Amino acid sequence: MLKPRMWPNRSKSTSPDALLPDTDGRLPERAQKPFDCTPVGILLTVKFTKLSTSQTPGKASNGEVGKALRGKAKQLYATDDPEVLWVEYKNSATAGDGEKKEDFAGKGRLNNLITTLIFDLLKKRGIDSHLVARVGETSQLVKKVTMFPLEIVLRNTAAGHFCSRLGVEEGIELKEPVLEYFLKNDDLHDPFVNDDDLVALGVCTREDLAEIAPLARRINEALIEIFAKIGIKLVDFKIEMGRTPDGTLLLADEITPDSCRLWDQRDGSGKVEHLDKDLFRRDLGDIIPAYEEVESRLAELAKSEGIEVAE
Ligand code: ADP
Ligand code: UDP
Repeated sequence: MLKPRMWPNRSKSTSPDALLPDTDGRLPERAQKPFDCTPVGILLTVKFTKLSTSQTPGKASNGEVGKALRGKAKQLYATDDPEVLWVEYKNSATAGDGEKKEDFAGKGRLNNLITTLIFDLLKKRGIDSHLVARVGETSQLVKKVTMFPLEIVLRNTAAGHFCSRLGVEEGIELKEPVLEYFLKNDDLHDPFVNDDDLVALGVCTREDLAEIAPLARRINEALIEIFAKIGIKLVDFKIEMGRTPDGTLLLADEITPDSCRLWDQRDGSGKVEHLDKDLFRRDLGDIIPAYEEVESRLAELAKSEGIEVAE
C-alpha cells in the first residue's frame, strides 16, 4: 500500500509560531496528512540525476486527484524521492478568499503549460525555479522547498487592492515597481505586512529579506520583458519562494494568469483586455480562451528562443 503524503495549501493557524519556516529543510510534520491509496503504476523514465528512481504520484487508485483532498488551485504529493514533489494543477478557480469557486475544464492543463513555459523562459534569463519537469498534462515534478509563508506581490501598474487601499485609479502607471508582502494566513485573510512585521514575528530574517526582495525585482524585470515581447502588459503578480535543504533561495509555486494581471496590448486600442483571473473575479467572461491565448503566445516565444515546447 502506497502512502503518499499531502501538503495543505495554507496554514490555518494564527499563531506566529506556526508560520515559522522549518530550519532543517523539511516540510513541517504538522502539514503531513497521510491518506490511503493504491499505487497507480505510473513509472516515469527519469532523466535527472537526482531522480534515479521512478516517481509515483499520490493519486487515488481510481485515478482521481484531489477528491478527498483540500487545495484550491493545485495539490502537492510526496514522491519516492524525498527532495521532489509531485504537483497536480486543478481545474478549480477561486476568488474572494475562496468564497467564489468554479471549475473550468482545461484550466489545470493550461496553467501547468503556462507555468512551465514561464519557468523555462526565466531559466534562460538566469533565474532558477523549483521546476524539475512537466511530466503530464496537469502535473509537474518540483524541488521540495521550505516555503516562506509569504505572498510576494510586485506591481507595475495600479490595479486591484492597491487601488481600493490607496484610492488610486486602476491603470495608472507606477513611477517605480512596488514590492509588497502578504502573510499567508487564511484566518487573517492574508494580511499586508512590512519587513519589520516579518522579522519581528520570526517569519524571515533581515538576511532573508535582503535576498528575497532583489530576487523578486529581478523576476519582475524579466517577466516585464517576456510579456512585452508577446504584446502583454504585466500589471502585477504574486510569487512565492522557499529554500532548498542546502539553503538556496528558489522561486517556487506557480506563475500563471491566476497569479498575474495580464492586459492584452495587441489591438493597440488602449482598452483593457484582461487575459487573467480578473475575468472570473469580476465576471467579465470566460477565462479559458484568455489562458489559451497566453499559453500560445508564450509557446511561440519559447520556441523562438530554442526552448523545447510541449505540443
Ligand atoms: P494556495 O491556495 O496557497 O495558492 P495552492 O492550491 O496553489 O495554494 O497549493 C500550492 C501550495 O504548495 C501552496 O501552499 C504553496 O506555498 C506550496 N508550494 C508550492 N511550491 C512548493 C514547493 N516547491 N515545495 C513546497 N511547497 C510548495
Ligand atoms: N494574487 C494572487 N493570489 C492571491 C492574491 C493576489 O495570486 O491570493 C495576485 C493577483 O492575481 C494579482 C496580484 O497578486 O496579480 C495582486 O493582487 P491584489 O493584491 O491586487 O489582490 P486582488 O485584488 O487580486 O484580490
